[in-house]
Amino acid sequence: MLLDNGHDVTVLDDLRTGHLAALAPEATHVDLPVHEAARVLTPEAGFDGVLHLAALIAAGESMVRPELYWHANTVSSIALIDAVRAARVPRLIFSSTAAVYGNPTELPIPETAVKAPTNTYGATKLAVDLALTSEAIAHDLAAVSLRYFNVAGAYLRGDVALGERHDPETHLIPIALDVAADRREKLQLFGDDYPTVDGTCVRDYIHVADLARAHLLALSAAVPGRHRIYNLGNGNGFTVKQVVDVVREVTGHPVPVEVSPRREGDPVELVASSALAREELGWTPEKPTLHDMVGDAWAFYRAHVLGQR
Ligand code: UDP
Repeated sequence: MLLDNGHDVTVLDDLRTGHLAALAPEATHVDLPVHEAARVLTPEAGFDGVLHLAALIAAGESMVRPELYWHANTVSSIALIDAVRAARVPRLIFSSTAAVYGNPTELPIPETAVKAPTNTYGATKLAVDLALTSEAIAHDLAAVSLRYFNVAGAYLRGDVALGERHDPETHLIPIALDVAADRREKLQLFGDDYPTVDGTCVRDYIHVADLARAHLLALSAAVPGRHRIYNLGNGNGFTVKQVVDVVREVTGHPVPVEVSPRREGDPVELVASSALAREELGWTPEKPTLHDMVGDAWAFYRAHVLGQR
């Protein structure tokens, strides 16, 4: 999308979890970890913005191996902010998360809600949000944090199809698709005794293409000396069981589930108010339904994982 909008793009990615094949051929790839960004982000290079999307993202794992998350998510981000300052890059857009809120005290969650993360992942991201606020004020950075809710779907355009390929996969929709495709026996349902309509956790799913578009809008809306923060979700909550039902409907396959213990650190319910992103960024989701998201994820899965077109 950046390329389509006339930007020159350099992608810093050490590919520890990424895929070179996911990179547009017109973009330049630099094989470095985030904390070494200063090697690329020099004052002479003339970058006019940085999008910082790299992180470890598995909330469950963050409870078991927190040290990995503090280093990869917080320490590396502070090094990146240092590099941005040294290179005098005016704008930084940061991938923050709904996990900063923990168990919310109000729903849908506005950006001003209490931040009390229930998992280490959310805490490591909140630390960076706080660092960006002070950086913007003290050093005139134009900073934007985009708090992603549950990203889903796939980006499909012409021959380009980009979807989730995590190894190991921990996310609900790709795992449910694996089960629908007979690549896993069953889906483990992490807890069915939460205080929700059917006992399973509620999340707000957002299509990856809608999410990507918000980054372009954020680049344009960033203002020096200000740290703007926007939630990105659709404002609709779905339980884990409801998501699995949509996967069954879209794929036409059964998805056997097995109730398992709760996953440590899971908030009960996360639903966004994205009113601010709509008002200030002019952001409107084009694919707001779970059917759209699961449909695109399934199209990607069939083409690229199962090799069927
Ligand atoms: N979940 C589940 N089984 C799985 C994977 C996820 O029951 O195999 C649940 C998880 O406990 C959470 C919801 O699905 O309530 C979404 O989890 P995911 O890991 O996709 O995203 P998160 O909300 O942690 O960012």
